[in-house]
Amino acid sequence: MSRQQFENFTASTLYCEKCRATTPVREKLLLVLPDREIFDYLCTECGSSVGQREVTAGEKMMAETVPGRNRRSVPLRSLR
Ligand SMILES: [Zn+2]
Repeated sequence: MSRQQFENFTASTLYCEKCRATTPVREKLLLVLPDREIFDYLCTECGSSVGQREVTAGEKMMAETVPGRNRRSVPLRSLR
């Protein structure tokens, strides 16, 4: 079990260059592909993009088996 991965997945604050601070971020689903989803992290203070993240189908499954705080509900979308 890697706690690091869990932390990464649930990252809800990121460093924003514009704000020069660690700010809460909003996760926005950017792109849905058959085997992965790409999320954009937007600074809630200034709205600029502070990072992106790819979630593969495998990772998503793992994440969903992790119990606990801050479990975000990943929208499950089937492309077929
Ligand atoms: Zn910002």
